[in-house]
Amino acid sequence: MSYDLIVIGTGPGGYVCAIRAAQLGLKVAVVEKRGTHGGTCLNVGCIPSKALLHASELFEEAAHGFKKLGIDVGTPRLDLPAMMAHKDTTVKSNVQGIDFLLKKNKVDPFLGAGKIVAPGKVEVTMNDGSGAKVLEGKAIVIATGSDVATLPGIEIDEKTVVSSTGAIALDKVPDTLVVIGAGVIGLELGSVWARLGAKVTVLEYLDRILPGMDGEVAKQFQRMLEKQGFAFKLGQKVTSVAPAGNGPVTVTFEPAAGGGGETIAADVVLVAVGRKPYTDGLGLDEVGVARDNRGRVVTDAHYATTVPGIYAIGDVIVGPMLAHKAEDEGVALAEILAGQHGHVNYGVIPGVVYTMPEVAAVGQTEEELKAAGIAYRSGKFPFTANGRAKATLHTDGFVKVLADAATDRVLGVHIVGAGAGDLIHEAAVLMEFGGSSEDLARTCHAHPTMSEAVKEAALAVDKRPIHI
Ligand code: NAD
Repeated sequence: MSYDLIVIGTGPGGYVCAIRAAQLGLKVAVVEKRGTHGGTCLNVGCIPSKALLHASELFEEAAHGFKKLGIDVGTPRLDLPAMMAHKDTTVKSNVQGIDFLLKKNKVDPFLGAGKIVAPGKVEVTMNDGSGAKVLEGKAIVIATGSDVATLPGIEIDEKTVVSSTGAIALDKVPDTLVVIGAGVIGLELGSVWARLGAKVTVLEYLDRILPGMDGEVAKQFQRMLEKQGFAFKLGQKVTSVAPAGNGPVTVTFEPAAGGGGETIAADVVLVAVGRKPYTDGLGLDEVGVARDNRGRVVTDAHYATTVPGIYAIGDVIVGPMLAHKAEDEGVALAEILAGQHGHVNYGVIPGVVYTMPEVAAVGQTEEELKAAGIAYRSGKFPFTANGRAKATLHTDGFVKVLADAATDRVLGVHIVGAGAGDLIHEAAVLMEFGGSSEDLARTCHAHPTMSEAVKEAALAVDKRPIHI
């Protein structure tokens, strides 16, 4: 069985690479060891968590938001099995969608564990027990993604000590949930269970939440989460997590700066301290594919590894572990392999935290601009001054536009507010075209929309917002 391209792993990086390559006329096979396509994102990550975030947000709204709008539904009752069934149906229809797309593009799927036995050769141990198949390909793409990282000595049983995988499948609402790590997963899944009734405490090593996001945004967002019932213990290093049979789990932590330890008990502990590249069983050492000190596959600017004919994209290489970054790399690599000039603009990759309100960012933060010594002007506009936000009771948050002081080119946009994850894309498009805050400010925005706050923040860069 001979192919132009064999892609190992059908997460957002791998399946998109395969489809784009097929569109460009390449004969493509994909190898996937999970029973279904879509990787972590579709099966146990982005998609199921969004199903639960949406459902739990409506539950919370029904309990606490509806009355202010003149809707009295009494006390809503949670049907957790039905909510989980909604999540499972969502996953099923998404992964089936990938089956359909691969078929439509005439990509051959092989369900089994792939191992690179030599450059140009992938051995697949088939899941159906039919033994091993050897595929030959002019190019091989490693798109095997990432796996949950944990802390030394902490065992994840996915029942009382859970990763994101267990946290989207709890069979009852814990009275108390301790989240280790105030990153994206901790705050998204912490939000789900807080809305459904858990008392959530977040332990974070750093002295802030959401490392990497704009500091001002993170600070305000932390206050909003505290109003929702989250408790934060920042600057704390978790030293042990001890499950005690079916009883509560004891988490021991101490100040990161040094000092005496404390303990906290919880029904469930969510370990959300990051993810690590996943390359187990691929045979990389045997064929000589180099990895860096964090286990990431080393690639050049064209995704080529240290072995000719073997490429890598997505979470398994350097850069943010984001589905859309992997997808864009998949497209770029397919185009490069087909003789075109595929390219990813790493300066314009949006990041979104799908909480309520959402947090979204594209480009550089104020901290990054200061560290790089770049002179900038900042314009801010709060949703409290936006008419639509008042009508929908979504006045929490603001938009911040950062523009180069000399050229006015927009360098970063940061939003905390309802729908921020959608609003951010007008900034992404603007930045992709090298636009200025003046361009954004002079673009007519429909009224009444939350997007007007983006325009007003752009006007505020030049100190001429209208509505504040
Ligand atoms: P993360 O890197 O976003 O956050 C991990 C947090 O854990 C950090 O704040 C870190 O300081 C903290 N931490 C590390 N060790 C600790 C310790 N011993 N005690 C206390 N805190 C500790 O990682 P994550 O939230 O696990 O997410 C994993 C990856 O998945 C990330 O790359 C993330 O971007 C991605 N992801 C993205 C989305 C999204 O885009 N909406 C959603 C989920 C996951």
